[in-house]
Amino acid sequence: MTFKTREGDTHLTAYGAYVNGTMCAGSSGEVLEVLSPSDGKAFATIPRCTGADVGRAVKVARQAYQADSWAALTAAERGRMLLRLADLIRDYHEELAALEARDTGKPVSQARADAAAAARYFEFYGGGADKIGGETIPAANGFLAVTLREPHGVVGAVIPWNYPLQIFSRVAGAALAMGNALVIKPAEHACLSVLRLAELATEAGIPDGILNVVTGFGDEVGAALAHHPGIDFLTFTGSPQVGTLIQAAAARNHIGCTLELGGKSPQILFEDADLDQALPVVRNAIIQNGGQTCSAGSRVLVHQPIYDEVVERLRNKFRALVTGPHDKDLDIGPLINAAQARRVSAFCERAKSEGIPLIAEGSIAPDAPKDGFYTTAKIYGPVPPNSALAQEEVFGPVLAVIPFRDEAEAVHIANDTPYGLVAGVWTRDGARGLRVARQIRSGQVFINAYGAGGGVELPFGGVKKSGHGREKGFEALREFSVLKTLIINHG
Ligand code: NAD
Repeated sequence: MTFKTREGDTHLTAYGAYVNGTMCAGSSGEVLEVLSPSDGKAFATIPRCTGADVGRAVKVARQAYQADSWAALTAAERGRMLLRLADLIRDYHEELAALEARDTGKPVSQARADAAAAARYFEFYGGGADKIGGETIPAANGFLAVTLREPHGVVGAVIPWNYPLQIFSRVAGAALAMGNALVIKPAEHACLSVLRLAELATEAGIPDGILNVVTGFGDEVGAALAHHPGIDFLTFTGSPQVGTLIQAAAARNHIGCTLELGGKSPQILFEDADLDQALPVVRNAIIQNGGQTCSAGSRVLVHQPIYDEVVERLRNKFRALVTGPHDKDLDIGPLINAAQARRVSAFCERAKSEGIPLIAEGSIAPDAPKDGFYTTAKIYGPVPPNSALAQEEVFGPVLAVIPFRDEAEAVHIANDTPYGLVAGVWTRDGARGLRVARQIRSGQVFINAYGAGGGVELPFGGVKKSGHGREKGFEALREFSVLKTLIINHG
Protein backbone atom coordinates (compact mmCIF):
# COMPACT_ATOMS: atom_id res chain seq x y z
CA MET A 1 0.00 0.00 0.00
CA THR A 2 1.24 3.46 -0.70
CA PHE A 3 -0.53 4.93 2.29
CA LYS A 4 -1.68 4.07 5.76
CA THR A 5 -4.79 4.89 7.71
CA ARG A 6 -4.25 7.80 10.02
CA GLU A 7 -6.31 10.39 11.83
CA GLY A 8 -6.44 13.97 10.44
CA ASP A 9 -3.08 15.61 9.85
CA THR A 10 -3.08 19.36 9.39
CA HIS A 11 -0.29 19.65 6.81
CA LEU A 12 -2.15 17.40 4.40
CA THR A 13 -4.89 18.66 2.08
CA ALA A 14 -8.06 16.86 3.10
CA TYR A 15 -10.25 15.81 0.18
CA GLY A 16 -13.77 14.51 0.65
CA ALA A 17 -15.85 11.98 -1.19
CA TYR A 18 -18.38 13.67 -3.48
CA VAL A 19 -22.01 12.80 -2.83
CA ASN A 20 -25.16 14.78 -3.65
CA GLY A 21 -23.21 17.73 -5.02
CA THR A 22 -20.90 18.26 -2.04
CA MET A 23 -17.56 17.09 -0.71
CA CYS A 24 -18.14 15.04 2.42
CA ALA A 25 -16.30 12.89 4.94
CA GLY A 26 -16.86 9.15 4.98
CA SER A 27 -19.18 7.80 7.68
CA SER A 28 -16.27 6.07 9.48
CA GLY A 29 -14.34 9.36 9.76
CA GLU A 30 -11.18 7.49 8.79
CA VAL A 31 -8.88 8.84 6.10
CA LEU A 32 -6.20 7.40 3.83
CA GLU A 33 -2.99 9.24 3.06
CA VAL A 34 -2.21 9.94 -0.58
CA LEU A 35 1.49 9.76 -1.46
CA SER A 36 3.26 11.58 -4.26
CA PRO A 37 5.04 8.86 -6.28
CA SER A 38 7.84 11.35 -7.00
CA ASP A 39 9.05 11.60 -3.39
CA GLY A 40 7.00 8.99 -1.52
CA LYS A 41 5.63 11.68 0.82
CA ALA A 42 1.99 12.14 1.84
CA PHE A 43 0.43 15.38 0.60
CA ALA A 44 -3.32 14.77 0.90
CA THR A 45 -5.94 12.55 2.46
CA ILE A 46 -9.11 10.97 1.11
CA PRO A 47 -11.95 9.46 3.12
CA ARG A 48 -11.87 5.73 3.70
CA CYS A 49 -15.49 5.19 2.70
CA THR A 50 -17.38 2.03 3.63
CA GLY A 51 -20.34 0.04 2.41
CA ALA A 52 -22.59 2.47 4.30
CA ASP A 53 -21.27 5.37 2.21
CA VAL A 54 -21.84 3.35 -0.95
CA GLY A 55 -25.43 2.70 0.18
CA ARG A 56 -26.00 6.41 0.70
CA ALA A 57 -24.46 7.35 -2.67
CA VAL A 58 -26.59 4.78 -4.52
CA LYS A 59 -29.75 6.02 -2.78
CA VAL A 60 -28.95 9.64 -3.59
CA ALA A 61 -28.20 8.69 -7.22
CA ARG A 62 -31.54 6.85 -7.54
CA GLN A 63 -33.48 9.83 -6.17
CA ALA A 64 -31.64 12.24 -8.45
CA TYR A 65 -32.17 9.95 -11.45
CA GLN A 66 -35.92 9.93 -10.87
CA ALA A 67 -36.18 13.66 -10.17
CA ASP A 68 -37.52 16.02 -12.84
CA SER A 69 -34.22 17.89 -12.92
CA TRP A 70 -32.60 14.95 -14.79
CA ALA A 71 -35.23 12.55 -16.16
CA ALA A 72 -37.25 15.33 -17.78
CA LEU A 73 -34.32 16.95 -19.54
CA THR A 74 -34.02 16.61 -23.29
CA ALA A 75 -30.90 14.99 -24.67
CA ALA A 76 -29.85 18.38 -26.02
CA GLU A 77 -30.12 19.95 -22.55
CA ARG A 78 -27.99 17.18 -21.03
CA GLY A 79 -25.51 17.59 -23.85
CA ARG A 80 -25.24 21.32 -23.21
CA MET A 81 -24.23 20.65 -19.58
CA LEU A 82 -21.49 18.30 -20.74
CA LEU A 83 -20.25 20.93 -23.19
CA ARG A 84 -20.12 23.44 -20.32
CA LEU A 85 -18.09 20.90 -18.34
CA ALA A 86 -15.68 20.54 -21.28
CA ASP A 87 -15.21 24.34 -21.24
CA LEU A 88 -14.59 24.33 -17.48
CA ILE A 89 -11.98 21.58 -17.82
CA ARG A 90 -10.22 23.77 -20.39
CA ASP A 91 -10.45 26.77 -18.02
CA TYR A 92 -8.82 24.73 -15.24
CA HIS A 93 -6.48 22.81 -17.54
CA GLU A 94 -3.23 23.70 -15.75
CA GLU A 95 -4.63 23.05 -12.27
CA LEU A 96 -5.97 19.65 -13.32
CA ALA A 97 -2.75 18.68 -15.09
CA ALA A 98 -0.61 19.67 -12.09
CA LEU A 99 -2.86 17.72 -9.71
CA GLU A 100 -2.84 14.65 -11.96
CA ALA A 101 0.95 14.75 -12.35
CA ARG A 102 1.51 15.02 -8.60
CA ASP A 103 -1.01 12.32 -7.76
CA THR A 104 0.05 9.75 -10.41
CA GLY A 105 3.71 10.75 -10.86
CA LYS A 106 3.38 11.08 -14.63
CA PRO A 107 5.44 13.79 -16.35
CA VAL A 108 3.44 17.00 -16.39
CA SER A 109 3.30 17.25 -20.19
CA GLN A 110 1.61 13.82 -20.25
CA ALA A 111 -0.86 15.00 -17.60
CA ARG A 112 -1.59 18.06 -19.77
CA ALA A 113 -2.45 15.73 -22.65
CA ASP A 114 -4.76 13.82 -20.30
CA ALA A 115 -6.54 17.03 -19.25
CA ALA A 116 -7.01 17.95 -22.91
CA ALA A 117 -8.43 14.47 -23.60
CA ALA A 118 -10.80 14.80 -20.62
CA ALA A 119 -12.25 18.00 -22.12
CA ARG A 120 -12.54 16.28 -25.51
CA TYR A 121 -14.52 13.38 -23.99
CA PHE A 122 -17.14 15.74 -22.55
CA GLU A 123 -17.18 17.74 -25.78
CA PHE A 124 -17.66 14.59 -27.88
CA TYR A 125 -20.39 13.11 -25.67
CA GLY A 126 -22.02 16.52 -25.14
CA GLY A 127 -22.36 16.75 -28.90
CA GLY A 128 -23.41 13.10 -29.19
CA ALA A 129 -26.20 13.13 -26.60
CA ASP A 130 -28.90 14.20 -29.08
CA LYS A 131 -27.50 12.40 -32.10
CA ILE A 132 -28.03 8.79 -31.12
CA GLY A 133 -31.39 7.13 -31.50
CA GLY A 134 -33.12 3.91 -32.42
CA GLU A 135 -34.37 2.61 -35.75
CA THR A 136 -37.60 1.79 -37.54
CA ILE A 137 -38.02 -1.92 -38.24
CA PRO A 138 -40.20 -3.24 -41.08
CA ALA A 139 -43.09 -5.03 -39.35
CA ALA A 140 -46.35 -6.74 -40.23
CA ASN A 141 -49.03 -4.71 -42.01
CA GLY A 142 -50.82 -2.46 -39.56
CA PHE A 143 -47.88 -2.35 -37.15
CA LEU A 144 -45.12 0.17 -36.60
CA ALA A 145 -41.99 -1.10 -34.78
CA VAL A 146 -39.30 1.24 -33.51
CA THR A 147 -36.40 0.95 -31.08
CA LEU A 148 -35.67 3.49 -28.35
CA ARG A 149 -32.44 4.00 -26.40
CA GLU A 150 -33.13 4.50 -22.71
CA PRO A 151 -30.70 4.93 -19.80
CA HIS A 152 -29.88 1.94 -17.58
CA GLY A 153 -30.63 4.00 -14.46
CA VAL A 154 -27.88 4.10 -11.83
CA VAL A 155 -24.50 3.04 -13.22
CA GLY A 156 -21.70 1.86 -10.92
CA ALA A 157 -18.16 2.49 -12.20
CA VAL A 158 -14.86 1.23 -10.75
CA ILE A 159 -11.78 2.80 -12.36
CA PRO A 160 -7.97 2.54 -11.97
CA TRP A 161 -5.14 4.93 -11.07
CA ASN A 162 -3.19 5.14 -14.30
CA TYR A 163 -5.37 7.68 -16.17
CA PRO A 164 -7.90 9.04 -13.66
CA LEU A 165 -8.75 12.18 -15.68
CA GLN A 166 -9.20 10.31 -18.93
CA ILE A 167 -10.98 7.20 -17.69
CA PHE A 168 -13.37 9.17 -15.47
CA SER A 169 -14.23 11.39 -18.43
CA ARG A 170 -14.80 8.61 -20.93
CA VAL A 171 -17.11 6.80 -18.50
CA ALA A 172 -18.95 9.82 -17.12
CA GLY A 173 -19.22 11.57 -20.50
CA ALA A 174 -20.97 8.64 -22.17
CA ALA A 175 -23.06 7.53 -19.16
CA LEU A 176 -24.37 11.04 -18.42
CA ALA A 177 -25.05 11.79 -22.09
CA MET A 178 -27.45 8.82 -22.13
CA GLY A 179 -29.26 10.08 -19.02
CA ASN A 180 -27.87 7.73 -16.37
CA ALA A 181 -26.90 8.66 -12.82
CA LEU A 182 -23.46 7.53 -11.65
CA VAL A 183 -21.62 6.32 -8.59
CA ILE A 184 -17.89 6.11 -9.31
CA LYS A 185 -15.20 4.40 -7.23
CA PRO A 186 -11.79 5.68 -8.36
CA ALA A 187 -8.57 3.96 -7.31
CA GLU A 188 -7.29 4.67 -3.80
CA HIS A 189 -3.80 5.35 -5.26
CA ALA A 190 -4.85 8.31 -7.45
CA CYS A 191 -8.27 9.93 -7.39
CA LEU A 192 -7.81 13.64 -6.65
CA SER A 193 -8.45 14.85 -10.20
CA VAL A 194 -11.66 12.79 -10.26
CA LEU A 195 -12.89 14.60 -7.14
CA ARG A 196 -12.06 17.96 -8.72
CA LEU A 197 -13.91 17.00 -11.91
CA ALA A 198 -16.97 16.06 -9.86
CA GLU A 199 -16.96 19.59 -8.39
CA LEU A 200 -16.66 21.07 -11.87
CA ALA A 201 -19.60 18.92 -13.03
CA THR A 202 -21.76 20.60 -10.40
CA GLU A 203 -20.50 23.99 -11.58
CA ALA A 204 -21.47 22.98 -15.13
CA GLY A 205 -25.06 22.39 -14.00
CA ILE A 206 -25.17 18.60 -13.55
CA PRO A 207 -27.84 18.20 -10.84
CA ASP A 208 -26.81 17.17 -7.33
CA GLY A 209 -26.76 13.41 -6.85
CA ILE A 210 -26.35 12.56 -10.54
CA LEU A 211 -22.58 12.18 -10.28
CA ASN A 212 -21.17 10.76 -7.04
CA VAL A 213 -17.65 9.67 -6.13
CA VAL A 214 -16.90 7.31 -3.24
CA THR A 215 -13.25 6.91 -2.27
CA GLY A 216 -11.41 4.12 -0.47
CA PHE A 217 -10.20 0.58 -0.82
CA GLY A 218 -11.23 -1.67 -3.68
CA ASP A 219 -12.17 -4.72 -1.61
CA GLU A 220 -14.21 -2.49 0.70
CA VAL A 221 -15.86 0.28 -1.35
CA GLY A 222 -15.40 -1.19 -4.85
CA ALA A 223 -16.81 -4.55 -3.80
CA ALA A 224 -19.76 -2.91 -1.99
CA LEU A 225 -20.58 -0.91 -5.12
CA ALA A 226 -20.27 -3.92 -7.43
CA HIS A 227 -22.61 -6.00 -5.26
CA HIS A 228 -25.14 -3.28 -4.45
CA PRO A 229 -28.63 -4.35 -5.59
CA GLY A 230 -29.49 -0.73 -6.44
CA ILE A 231 -27.00 -0.64 -9.33
CA ASP A 232 -28.46 -1.19 -12.82
CA PHE A 233 -25.23 -1.52 -14.83
CA LEU A 234 -21.52 -1.86 -14.00
CA THR A 235 -18.46 -0.66 -15.83
CA PHE A 236 -14.95 -1.59 -14.74
CA THR A 237 -11.46 -0.67 -15.88
CA GLY A 238 -8.57 -2.40 -14.17
CA SER A 239 -6.92 -5.76 -13.73
CA PRO A 240 -8.32 -9.05 -15.07
CA GLN A 241 -8.34 -10.47 -11.53
CA VAL A 242 -10.71 -7.79 -10.22
CA GLY A 243 -12.64 -7.82 -13.52
CA THR A 244 -13.58 -11.42 -12.79
CA LEU A 245 -15.01 -10.39 -9.41
CA ILE A 246 -16.96 -7.52 -10.98
CA GLN A 247 -18.45 -9.80 -13.62
CA ALA A 248 -19.47 -12.29 -10.94
CA ALA A 249 -21.14 -9.51 -8.94
CA ALA A 250 -22.98 -8.34 -12.07
CA ALA A 251 -24.16 -11.90 -12.74
CA ARG A 252 -25.45 -12.20 -9.19
CA ASN A 253 -27.63 -9.11 -9.66
CA HIS A 254 -28.52 -10.02 -13.28
CA ILE A 255 -27.17 -6.79 -14.70
CA GLY A 256 -24.84 -6.06 -17.58
CA CYS A 257 -21.25 -4.94 -17.33
CA THR A 258 -18.35 -3.82 -19.49
CA LEU A 259 -14.80 -4.79 -18.60
CA GLU A 260 -11.70 -2.91 -19.83
CA LEU A 261 -8.80 -5.03 -18.61
CA GLY A 262 -5.13 -5.47 -19.38
CA GLY A 263 -3.08 -6.12 -22.49
CA LYS A 264 0.15 -7.51 -23.91
CA SER A 265 -0.08 -5.61 -27.13
CA PRO A 266 2.24 -6.46 -30.04
CA GLN A 267 3.71 -4.25 -32.72
CA ILE A 268 4.86 -6.27 -35.74
CA LEU A 269 7.76 -4.89 -37.80
CA PHE A 270 8.10 -6.49 -41.24
CA GLU A 271 11.35 -6.23 -43.20
CA ASP A 272 9.86 -3.54 -45.47
CA ALA A 273 8.68 -1.32 -42.58
CA ASP A 274 9.66 2.35 -42.54
CA LEU A 275 11.85 2.14 -39.44
CA ASP A 276 12.36 5.90 -39.22
CA GLN A 277 8.63 6.19 -38.77
CA ALA A 278 8.10 3.05 -36.69
CA LEU A 279 10.87 3.06 -34.08
CA PRO A 280 10.02 6.33 -32.30
CA VAL A 281 6.45 5.05 -32.04
CA VAL A 282 7.62 1.67 -30.70
CA ARG A 283 9.65 3.50 -28.05
CA ASN A 284 6.83 5.86 -27.04
CA ALA A 285 4.22 3.11 -26.89
CA ILE A 286 6.03 1.44 -23.99
CA ILE A 287 7.32 4.47 -22.06
CA GLN A 288 4.16 6.58 -22.04
CA ASN A 289 2.96 6.81 -18.44
CA GLY A 290 5.92 4.62 -17.46
CA GLY A 291 4.39 1.66 -19.30
CA GLN A 292 1.43 1.74 -16.91
CA THR A 293 -1.00 1.83 -19.79
CA CYS A 294 -3.39 -0.99 -20.66
CA SER A 295 -2.67 -0.41 -24.36
CA ALA A 296 1.13 -0.18 -23.90
CA GLY A 297 2.99 -1.71 -26.85
CA SER A 298 4.90 -4.11 -24.61
CA ARG A 299 5.97 -6.60 -27.32
CA VAL A 300 7.73 -5.79 -30.57
CA LEU A 301 7.81 -8.65 -33.07
CA VAL A 302 10.66 -8.20 -35.53
CA HIS A 303 11.21 -9.90 -38.91
CA GLN A 304 14.53 -11.81 -38.85
CA PRO A 305 16.21 -9.90 -41.74
CA ILE A 306 15.95 -6.57 -39.84
CA TYR A 307 16.33 -7.93 -36.30
CA ASP A 308 19.94 -6.75 -35.76
CA GLU A 309 19.29 -3.29 -37.16
CA VAL A 310 16.13 -2.83 -35.06
CA VAL A 311 17.85 -3.99 -31.89
CA GLU A 312 20.79 -1.65 -32.49
CA ARG A 313 18.57 1.36 -33.11
CA LEU A 314 16.30 0.61 -30.13
CA ARG A 315 19.38 0.07 -27.93
CA ASN A 316 20.42 3.66 -28.52
CA LYS A 317 16.94 4.99 -27.90
CA PHE A 318 16.53 3.11 -24.61
CA ARG A 319 19.97 4.10 -23.29
CA ALA A 320 18.95 7.73 -23.67
CA LEU A 321 15.73 7.43 -21.63
CA VAL A 322 15.71 9.23 -18.27
CA THR A 323 13.30 8.58 -15.39
CA GLY A 324 12.64 11.36 -12.87
CA PRO A 325 10.07 13.34 -10.87
CA HIS A 326 6.81 14.46 -12.52
CA ASP A 327 7.64 18.16 -12.38
CA LYS A 328 10.97 17.68 -14.22
CA ASP A 329 8.93 16.44 -17.20
CA LEU A 330 11.47 13.83 -18.33
CA ASP A 331 10.81 10.77 -20.51
CA ILE A 332 9.38 8.69 -17.68
CA GLY A 333 7.96 9.49 -14.24
CA PRO A 334 8.00 7.26 -11.16
CA LEU A 335 5.71 4.23 -10.99
CA ILE A 336 2.52 4.68 -8.99
CA ASN A 337 3.72 3.07 -5.76
CA ALA A 338 6.29 0.82 -4.12
CA ALA A 339 4.28 -2.33 -4.82
CA GLN A 340 4.21 -1.58 -8.54
CA ALA A 341 7.96 -0.88 -8.54
CA ARG A 342 8.54 -4.25 -6.82
CA ARG A 343 6.29 -5.99 -9.34
CA VAL A 344 8.23 -4.56 -12.28
CA SER A 345 11.60 -5.44 -10.80
CA ALA A 346 10.37 -9.00 -10.10
CA PHE A 347 9.69 -9.41 -13.83
CA CYS A 348 13.22 -8.15 -14.60
CA GLU A 349 14.79 -10.46 -12.01
CA ARG A 350 12.91 -13.38 -13.49
CA ALA A 351 14.04 -12.47 -17.03
CA LYS A 352 17.62 -12.39 -15.74
CA SER A 353 17.30 -15.78 -14.06
CA GLU A 354 15.87 -17.21 -17.30
CA GLY A 355 18.89 -15.91 -19.20
CA ILE A 356 16.97 -13.41 -21.34
CA PRO A 357 19.48 -10.81 -22.59
CA LEU A 358 19.03 -7.19 -21.46
CA ILE A 359 19.65 -5.13 -24.61
CA ALA A 360 19.75 -1.73 -22.92
CA GLU A 361 18.63 0.21 -19.89
CA GLY A 362 17.91 3.91 -19.34
CA SER A 363 18.88 5.89 -16.26
CA ILE A 364 17.37 7.64 -13.25
CA ALA A 365 17.94 11.40 -12.94
CA PRO A 366 20.67 11.96 -10.32
CA ASP A 367 18.55 14.49 -8.43
CA ALA A 368 15.43 12.26 -8.24
CA PRO A 369 14.23 12.11 -4.59
CA LYS A 370 15.47 8.87 -3.05
CA ASP A 371 12.07 7.81 -1.69
CA GLY A 372 10.29 8.07 -5.05
CA PHE A 373 9.16 4.92 -6.89
CA TYR A 374 11.62 5.04 -9.77
CA THR A 375 12.55 2.40 -12.29
CA THR A 376 14.65 2.55 -15.46
CA ALA A 377 13.35 1.78 -18.94
CA LYS A 378 14.55 -1.64 -20.13
CA ILE A 379 14.54 -3.54 -23.40
CA TYR A 380 15.08 -7.31 -23.58
CA GLY A 381 15.67 -9.60 -26.54
CA PRO A 382 15.46 -12.09 -28.00
CA VAL A 383 12.58 -12.92 -25.64
CA PRO A 384 11.13 -16.45 -25.89
CA PRO A 385 7.44 -16.10 -26.83
CA ASN A 386 6.39 -18.42 -24.01
CA SER A 387 8.29 -16.57 -21.23
CA ALA A 388 6.56 -14.49 -18.57
CA LEU A 389 8.03 -11.34 -20.12
CA ALA A 390 6.28 -12.14 -23.41
CA GLN A 391 3.02 -13.40 -21.90
CA GLU A 392 2.22 -11.33 -18.81
CA GLU A 393 1.39 -7.69 -18.34
CA VAL A 394 4.36 -6.01 -16.62
CA PHE A 395 2.76 -2.54 -16.40
CA GLY A 396 6.14 -0.83 -16.46
CA PRO A 397 8.61 0.57 -19.06
CA VAL A 398 9.86 -2.85 -20.15
CA LEU A 399 9.87 -3.86 -23.82
CA ALA A 400 10.18 -7.47 -25.06
CA VAL A 401 11.71 -7.92 -28.53
CA ILE A 402 10.71 -11.17 -30.24
CA PRO A 403 12.08 -12.26 -33.64
CA PHE A 404 9.89 -14.04 -36.22
CA ARG A 405 10.61 -15.85 -39.51
CA ASP A 406 7.53 -15.20 -41.65
CA GLU A 407 4.03 -13.76 -41.72
CA ALA A 408 2.36 -16.88 -40.36
CA GLU A 409 4.70 -16.99 -37.38
CA ALA A 410 4.19 -13.28 -36.70
CA VAL A 411 0.42 -13.74 -36.58
CA HIS A 412 0.78 -16.81 -34.38
CA ILE A 413 3.04 -15.05 -31.84
CA ALA A 414 0.87 -11.91 -31.87
CA ASN A 415 -2.23 -13.96 -31.02
CA ASP A 416 -0.54 -16.35 -28.61
CA THR A 417 -1.14 -14.53 -25.31
CA PRO A 418 -4.24 -14.43 -23.12
CA TYR A 419 -4.83 -10.78 -24.12
CA GLY A 420 -6.24 -8.95 -27.15
CA LEU A 421 -6.47 -5.19 -26.72
CA VAL A 422 -4.37 -3.32 -29.33
CA ALA A 423 -1.88 -4.28 -32.05
CA GLY A 424 0.26 -2.51 -34.65
CA VAL A 425 1.45 -3.76 -38.06
CA TRP A 426 4.29 -1.95 -39.84
CA THR A 427 4.85 -2.72 -43.53
CA ARG A 428 4.99 -0.92 -46.89
CA ASP A 429 3.03 -3.79 -48.45
CA GLY A 430 -0.60 -2.68 -48.19
CA ALA A 431 -2.07 -6.12 -48.85
CA ARG A 432 0.13 -7.71 -46.20
CA GLY A 433 -0.83 -5.01 -43.69
CA LEU A 434 -4.53 -5.71 -44.21
CA ARG A 435 -4.08 -9.48 -44.27
CA VAL A 436 -2.21 -9.51 -40.98
CA ALA A 437 -4.46 -6.92 -39.32
CA ARG A 438 -7.49 -9.02 -40.09
CA GLN A 439 -5.95 -12.15 -38.57
CA ILE A 440 -5.06 -10.51 -35.28
CA ARG A 441 -7.51 -11.09 -32.44
CA SER A 442 -7.62 -7.68 -30.86
CA GLY A 443 -10.05 -4.83 -30.17
CA GLN A 444 -7.99 -2.32 -32.16
CA VAL A 445 -5.35 -2.82 -34.85
CA PHE A 446 -3.24 -0.02 -36.34
CA ILE A 447 -1.41 -0.25 -39.67
CA ASN A 448 1.74 1.90 -39.88
CA ALA A 449 0.77 3.67 -36.66
CA TYR A 450 0.08 2.91 -33.01
CA GLY A 451 -2.25 4.90 -30.75
CA ALA A 452 -2.60 7.63 -33.38
CA GLY A 453 -5.15 8.89 -35.87
CA GLY A 454 -7.92 9.72 -33.47
CA GLY A 455 -8.83 9.63 -29.83
CA VAL A 456 -12.16 9.78 -28.09
CA GLU A 457 -14.03 8.96 -31.32
CA LEU A 458 -12.53 5.49 -31.75
CA PRO A 459 -14.29 2.52 -30.10
CA PHE A 460 -11.90 0.87 -27.66
CA GLY A 461 -11.95 -2.41 -25.75
CA GLY A 462 -10.68 -5.93 -25.80
CA VAL A 463 -11.24 -9.56 -26.57
CA LYS A 464 -10.15 -12.55 -24.47
CA LYS A 465 -8.61 -11.58 -21.11
CA SER A 466 -8.56 -7.91 -22.17
CA GLY A 467 -12.29 -7.72 -21.45
CA HIS A 468 -15.50 -7.09 -23.31
CA GLY A 469 -17.77 -4.21 -24.23
CA ARG A 470 -16.62 -1.01 -25.89
CA GLU A 471 -15.87 2.43 -24.50
CA LYS A 472 -15.16 5.61 -26.45
CA GLY A 473 -16.91 6.65 -29.63
CA PHE A 474 -20.63 6.15 -30.21
CA GLU A 475 -20.28 2.51 -29.14
CA ALA A 476 -20.05 3.69 -25.53
CA LEU A 477 -23.40 5.48 -25.89
CA ARG A 478 -24.88 2.15 -26.92
CA GLU A 479 -23.27 0.36 -23.95
CA PHE A 480 -24.62 2.92 -21.51
CA SER A 481 -28.20 2.53 -22.74
CA VAL A 482 -30.88 -0.13 -22.98
CA LEU A 483 -32.63 -0.83 -26.24
CA LYS A 484 -36.41 -0.93 -25.96
CA THR A 485 -38.50 -2.20 -28.86
CA LEU A 486 -41.85 -0.45 -29.18
CA ILE A 487 -44.57 -2.05 -31.34
CA ILE A 488 -47.68 -0.04 -32.21
CA ASN A 489 -50.80 -1.60 -33.73
CA HIS A 490 -52.36 1.06 -35.95
CA GLY A 491 -54.40 -1.33 -38.09
P1 NAD B 1 -7.05 -3.09 -10.01
O1 NAD B 1 -7.93 -4.03 -10.70
O2 NAD B 1 -6.30 -3.56 -8.84
O3 NAD B 1 -7.88 -1.81 -9.50
C1 NAD B 1 -8.78 -1.16 -10.33
C2 NAD B 1 -9.89 -0.62 -9.47
O4 NAD B 1 -10.58 -1.72 -8.88
C3 NAD B 1 -9.42 0.27 -8.32
O5 NAD B 1 -10.35 1.32 -8.14
C4 NAD B 1 -9.48 -0.68 -7.13
O6 NAD B 1 -9.68 -0.02 -5.90
C5 NAD B 1 -10.69 -1.51 -7.48
N1 NAD B 1 -10.74 -2.81 -6.80
C6 NAD B 1 -9.71 -3.55 -6.30
N2 NAD B 1 -10.17 -4.68 -5.72
C7 NAD B 1 -11.53 -4.67 -5.87
C8 NAD B 1 -12.57 -5.56 -5.51
N3 NAD B 1 -12.32 -6.70 -4.84
N4 NAD B 1 -13.85 -5.25 -5.84
C9 NAD B 1 -14.12 -4.11 -6.51
N5 NAD B 1 -13.18 -3.21 -6.86
C10 NAD B 1 -11.89 -3.49 -6.55
O7 NAD B 1 -6.13 -2.53 -11.16
P2 NAD B 1 -5.03 -1.41 -11.03
O8 NAD B 1 -3.84 -2.02 -10.40
O9 NAD B 1 -5.61 -0.22 -10.39
O10 NAD B 1 -4.78 -1.09 -12.57
C11 NAD B 1 -3.92 -1.83 -13.34
C12 NAD B 1 -4.69 -2.75 -14.28
O11 NAD B 1 -5.73 -2.09 -14.95
C13 NAD B 1 -3.79 -3.27 -15.37
O12 NAD B 1 -3.99 -4.65 -15.53
C14 NAD B 1 -4.25 -2.51 -16.61
O13 NAD B 1 -3.98 -3.11 -17.83
C15 NAD B 1 -5.68 -2.31 -16.36
N6 NAD B 1 -6.20 -1.15 -17.09
C16 NAD B 1 -6.98 -1.34 -18.18
C17 NAD B 1 -7.46 -0.27 -18.91
C18 NAD B 1 -8.33 -0.47 -20.12
O14 NAD B 1 -8.96 0.46 -20.57
N7 NAD B 1 -8.41 -1.65 -20.68
C19 NAD B 1 -7.14 1.02 -18.52
C20 NAD B 1 -6.34 1.19 -17.40
C21 NAD B 1 -5.89 0.09 -16.68
